[in-house]
Amino acid sequence: MNQFRFSRRPGIGDRIKVSFEFFPPKNDLMEARLWETTDRLQALAPDFVSVTYGAGGSTRERTARTVGRLLRETSLVPATHLTCVDASREAVDEVIDAFIGMGVTRFVALRGDPAEGVGARYRPHPQGYANAAELVGALKARGATDISVSAYPEKHPESPDFATDIDMLKRKVDAGATRAITQFFFDNDSYERYVERVRRAGLYVPIVPGILPIHNFRQVAGFSARCGAHVPAWLAERFEGLDDDPQTHALVAAAVAAEQVLDLIERGITDFHFYTMNRADLVVAICHMIGIRSTAAAEPRTVAA
Ligand code: FAD
Repeated sequence: MNQFRFSRRPGIGDRIKVSFEFFPPKNDLMEARLWETTDRLQALAPDFVSVTYGAGGSTRERTARTVGRLLRETSLVPATHLTCVDASREAVDEVIDAFIGMGVTRFVALRGDPAEGVGARYRPHPQGYANAAELVGALKARGATDISVSAYPEKHPESPDFATDIDMLKRKVDAGATRAITQFFFDNDSYERYVERVRRAGLYVPIVPGILPIHNFRQVAGFSARCGAHVPAWLAERFEGLDDDPQTHALVAAAVAAEQVLDLIERGITDFHFYTMNRADLVVAICHMIGIRSTAAAEPRTVAA
């Protein structure tokens, strides 16, 4: 195991960049938890944090409210996710302009899933952006410069093959995307093979691994297939028998994610995006293991152009 080698290399955390993903809270209790989480995570000085964007007006307003509060009340640099789902070009453009007006400089541009749910056939809005590549183009045209998009190491469930999948990534990069963040995965070899395929296709944007610390294995196993992420048998074995033992489950989850991240560091990866599920504990533990420690006082960070 590589953590012993890692522990003899103080300062490794200095060359690692992390970003954290949140979802907009649905009620007061969830809201309180999110702000506790951001309080703890901002001390780790992430490169940026991102807030997901849902279907429907109310969840979209919650995204804007959450991003606004992050801008006003924290030292964090927020990125907002945006999707094309059920919205005309005009409506999406208005949202983009509103975010830019608030001072948002980073975006994560997605096609999104159909309002009926993952697995249903996606139909673009008749006057809307057809896909994430068109959305990236709109963001670029309206002045955005830091635009992340999705990438799928095990390919998106709708993609018939890797060539089609990577072709979509190429269209997004050609339209102006500056970074891809992957769907979560548990098999680092599949990520490495995917990055090789992407490079062979002539794409050189960072492909930042999306890391999902497992708060509830049963849940993750349930939705992984729909997201196009494979749950290996060895992972299921690690969590076997822990459904009713939350403390051990959390310790195993921290170990599993740290092991994955340390192995990726060994493979030369320096940037990581964490799907936090609005919870700090596992992310703080993993970051600690990779040498990212709380700063004494989280100074406001310069917003990158
Ligand atoms: P695209 O990049 O446009 O397409 C993904 C892949 O699907 C392509 O590679 C392409 O090969 C294939 N594909 C697309 N359309 C077709 C088609 N018509 N026929 C055949 N193949 C096709 N969802 C949200 O609702 N809100 C969020 O905030 C959000 N954040 C996300 C963040 C990240 C980092 C990731 C990885 C996903 C996120 N998602 C989010 C989920 C995402 O919206 C879904 O995975 C959605 O199904 C695809 O959106 P996309 O932008 O990845 O699509």
